[in-house]
Amino acid sequence: MNNMTQNLVSDAVVEQDRNHVWHHLSQHKPYENSDPFMIVKGKGVRVWDAKGNEYLDAVSGAVWTVNVGYGRREIADAVRDQLVTMNYFAQTAGNVPAAQFAKRLISKMPGLSRVYYSNSGSEANEKAFKIVRQIADKKYGGQKRKVLYRERDYHGTTITTLSATGQHERRHQYGPFTPGFVEVPHCCQYRAQEDADLSNYGVWAADQIEKVILEEGPETIGALCLEPITAGGGIIEAPEGYWPRVQEICKKYDILLHIDEVVCGLGRTGTWFGYQHYGIQPDIVTMAKGVASGYAAISCTVTTEAVFEAFKDDADPRMGYFRDISTFGGCTAGPAAALINMEIIEDEKLLANATEQGEYLKGRLHQLMDKYQVIGDVRGKGLFAGFELVKDRSTKEPVDESLTVAIAAHCMANGVIIGRTNRSFATLNNNICLSPPLIVTRDEIDEIVTALDNALQTLT
Ligand code: PMP
Repeated sequence: MNNMTQNLVSDAVVEQDRNHVWHHLSQHKPYENSDPFMIVKGKGVRVWDAKGNEYLDAVSGAVWTVNVGYGRREIADAVRDQLVTMNYFAQTAGNVPAAQFAKRLISKMPGLSRVYYSNSGSEANEKAFKIVRQIADKKYGGQKRKVLYRERDYHGTTITTLSATGQHERRHQYGPFTPGFVEVPHCCQYRAQEDADLSNYGVWAADQIEKVILEEGPETIGALCLEPITAGGGIIEAPEGYWPRVQEICKKYDILLHIDEVVCGLGRTGTWFGYQHYGIQPDIVTMAKGVASGYAAISCTVTTEAVFEAFKDDADPRMGYFRDISTFGGCTAGPAAALINMEIIEDEKLLANATEQGEYLKGRLHQLMDKYQVIGDVRGKGLFAGFELVKDRSTKEPVDESLTVAIAAHCMANGVIIGRTNRSFATLNNNICLSPPLIVTRDEIDEIVTALDNALQTLT
């Protein structure tokens, strides 16, 4: 961190924030002398707080969003030009950047062809759920309305997307939940279920999905919604054998495969989309965060032509079409920013950088694991990595959450912002998460790892 700091905003602004803004995921305490944490400037992989302290942001805006890094004038210029030409008209009509971005996006997603715009990951998932329910009515006489989701996955903040979320601390106090969402077991090999077949865990974990389908009745299940790599639930990549079996099960029971790429989409794991590592063909893909790297709010629900076609029939012209609208899905800033965002990822070869630097980061984390017994497992793919902290490697007993909090605070005091699992499970808030912007260099990764090393040295 740069010690020669100078306030970047006035005390009055800090006070306005302290007195009137309700921060997300934060417990506000009545400490008169504690300044709120305000980020006021960003450039590349770095951000500055109100006091002028500089940080390397190893989590892309705290929640894996700013994929192309901060301060991209070319995105701001494109958005500005678009706004003065045409800022908004509801998506009941088309607009130029939305058309151009849709074409560009689906060129990266073979087998998918339609883009439905909205504003957040939660909303994109909610659209997918509505699509599934309406298809149940249109094609299956009202059956096949249920959606399966996986333990440890997260799909959003609204009551219905929380109903489809397998993180129990996040759901706590917010019920009753929307009916029709059914949980299937997680696929984290390090925390494998007691009766699991560890010799073939990927296939075993996928088979647990089939078990749930058979218990519920395949005729009642419309879709299976999965993160390609579980993000906030602890950076979990499914073991080999899982995805082909998942695809097979969906085909066998005529269940739509909905992949939630809100975090992994747009290059985070080294491919355009996380699912593309596994050779599967989803029916619905949702995305948000990295689509415009946080330069504008945008999310997309992308479907196959077959899903789109299901809404085309003229049998019920009054009620049969997808009767959904998202006011701000008509904002042109989102797709205008997304177009340039995608161009940057291509021009600067950021998929390759995510793969290369991601390998390096994982290697460095394994070195830390060799040095510190407290690291029980290192996981991730591309620039999406994390590790679990345990009291004892043989029992795998998780450390108390206070240690992950202290490690994050130590890194921050040393100028590096890292992530951690936060209120996802009572016992598994023991994960450290890293997802730096895709432009990160090897030296910057060294900086991140040095901060972690110092924190672990001091605190464990
Ligand atoms: N899906 C996943 C996998 C996410 O991680 C998130 C957000 N962390 C969401 C959906 C919800 O996105 P949003 O916060 O934009 O509604």
